[in-house]
Amino acid sequence: SGYHRVLEENRKLYNQVQDLKGSIRVYCRVRPFLSERSSYVSTVEHIEDGNITISTPSKYGKGCKSFTFNKVFGQSVTQAEVFSDMQPLIRSVLDGYNVCIFAYGQTGSGKTYTMVGPKDLTEKNQGVNYRALGDLFVLAEKRKDNFRYDVAVQMIEIYNEQVRDLLVIDGKIHNSSQTGLNVPDASLMPVSSTSDVIDLMNLGQRNRAVGATALNDRSSRSHSCLTVHVQGKDLTSGTILRGCMHLVDLAGSERVNKSEVTGGRLKEAQHINKSLSALGDVIASLAQKNTHVPYRNSKLTQLLQDSLGGQAKTLMFVHISPEPDALAETISTLKFAERVATVELGAAQVNK
Ligand code: ADP
Repeated sequence: SGYHRVLEENRKLYNQVQDLKGSIRVYCRVRPFLSERSSYVSTVEHIEDGNITISTPSKYGKGCKSFTFNKVFGQSVTQAEVFSDMQPLIRSVLDGYNVCIFAYGQTGSGKTYTMVGPKDLTEKNQGVNYRALGDLFVLAEKRKDNFRYDVAVQMIEIYNEQVRDLLVIDGKIHNSSQTGLNVPDASLMPVSSTSDVIDLMNLGQRNRAVGATALNDRSSRSHSCLTVHVQGKDLTSGTILRGCMHLVDLAGSERVNKSEVTGGRLKEAQHINKSLSALGDVIASLAQKNTHVPYRNSKLTQLLQDSLGGQAKTLMFVHISPEPDALAETISTLKFAERVATVELGAAQVNK
């Protein structure tokens, strides 16, 4: 009926507006049970639209807590389905927007699976990083009569507040161009096909693993960031558009019990806490439209400064594990995420 058409059009318009403003979206994904633990009962009681309900049994009886996000993906959702929901955001990089996507959650909750994929990587289970670049190439090709796009990538790791270039070859930084760099002193590599991307991702993962052998799976305690720089030239007007996208696999968000760790491990934990709370503070302060945004409180927020706030689009992608022994971390992850999300959901309610 006409009424429903109007409603539908309003909804579309509303979504477009939401899509355009410098907003923060929050998605949540639940990892499936790993096979050896499939006899466990999931703490996830119910998922519907953007709502997730977690059962919180205690000695006083059965309880539950619900959280609301822009999207919630259950255990059976595929990599392709997850990506299709992020596609518009990624495509806006070609229109000159800056985009930031964070994978947040405790170690083992599926952050790397979402961003990169599993160890036995196939085309079907590739994560966001591969799909995002593949998609940019497809779209750039479609627009080739009107635009010429150049794409270049950087890959870095932040560990204990130190930035490490992951695309070094034989210890050398490769800087083939100097435009639009906001990660100084890290190799910037041009890419023009998915196979270029696969080669570089492999190089980055090899370089990342070099540090890991020395420090026992340090990858869960460092942030890794794939930055994609896109420059588009409008072939009729000659106008140059620049967009940039950061795809960040954050360090595990688990709280470390101070009494259990000392020395290097404690220092790592303190650095992780510091940078994750700095990220939370930046997001909160952007949301409150504060004039002073505390970007300089961590390496992570410093590096992402151009891509957080303003016209930039941010997606916080939180991950949770379904096992009962992860319950405390699951609740704390969802609370952090909800603090980030309230901002946007609050604004959305005003518009409804
Ligand atoms: P994190 O990066 O948060 O530490 P991982 O991505 O390494 O966690 O995930 C932990 C394990 O669970 C890995 O073996 C990974 O392949 C598996 N896993 C995570 N998410 C999924 C998923 N959606 N489907 C299948 N396996 C998954």
